[in-house]
Amino acid sequence: MAVIGHCNQKNILFSMSKKENIPHAFIFSGPNKIGKKMIALDFAKNIFCQEKNLKGEPCDKCYACRSINESTFPDVTIIAPEDGSKEIKIEQIWQLSEKLALKSYGNSYKIGIINDAHLMNVYAQNSLLKTLEEPKGKSIIILITAYPEMLISTIKSRAQNIKFSLLDKELIENHLISLGAKSEDAKEIAMMSSGQIGKAVDFFNNPDKVKNFNQSVKDIETLCSADYHKRFEYAKKMTDATETNEGLMETMEIWERFFRREMLYKVFGNKDRLAKYSVNDLVLIIKDLSKVKHLIASTNINKKLAIENLLIKL
Ligand SMILES: [Zn+2]
Repeated sequence: MAVIGHCNQKNILFSMSKKENIPHAFIFSGPNKIGKKMIALDFAKNIFCQEKNLKGEPCDKCYACRSINESTFPDVTIIAPEDGSKEIKIEQIWQLSEKLALKSYGNSYKIGIINDAHLMNVYAQNSLLKTLEEPKGKSIIILITAYPEMLISTIKSRAQNIKFSLLDKELIENHLISLGAKSEDAKEIAMMSSGQIGKAVDFFNNPDKVKNFNQSVKDIETLCSADYHKRFEYAKKMTDATETNEGLMETMEIWERFFRREMLYKVFGNKDRLAKYSVNDLVLIIKDLSKVKHLIASTNINKKLAIENLLIKL
């Protein structure tokens, strides 16, 4: 499947893939679920495809393209936190570095993709730094992250940064229509997914998630005027119900979008909505939400306490 949007970034990477000396390391930074990993895989296909078209674009059908899509191509290794873990460990970086040092099967490059690279612990980051300082053979490392500020500066200075942004609503809407969505559904989902194409496709494929989204918006509206007891109860229910962080993060992202939307209404003069908050109050709530999200994603913070803290400030 073609990656939607990000034309500038794709062009830069496409022309780089044709060069004799491709940089040893890249950081693909930008929000989650906008296609960064798919673009990293496309970059690999630009390099390895055996049946490129006249423009030099990959075919998506040959052995290399298919096995890159299926994560089985021997010269491309993808790592991320192992099941149940919140971090990428030094052993994973050792293994990756060993693989990158081997000769390529196709007498070409070896590529390592580190997904959620900010989850490398400090030992893993330092070990990766050594590999970046002394790259062996023809290897390329792509670090994918929504939080590039969590990478050590010595890694950042050795990698080429490619920044990605949220996608336009129209682009997402059109893509959903091309997948078979009705026009009004595509509009609604594009609005809900706030520029994250991966989320939009997920909503389209899982109508239950649309229901959850609407429920989370209703919940946060109610919580804004609920007593403390109800807020604590909600924090408990919310953290009991989700074993993984993913559900929690999703709910908080929905809340964040809700408050951003309300802030815009207020900025444009609709004072009646959420009347008890000023624009400044909403800015602080959004900042708090993003701080808690960041802490939950990257540390072992007590999730229930963090959410309680957030909710009592509403
Ligand atoms: Zn191909």
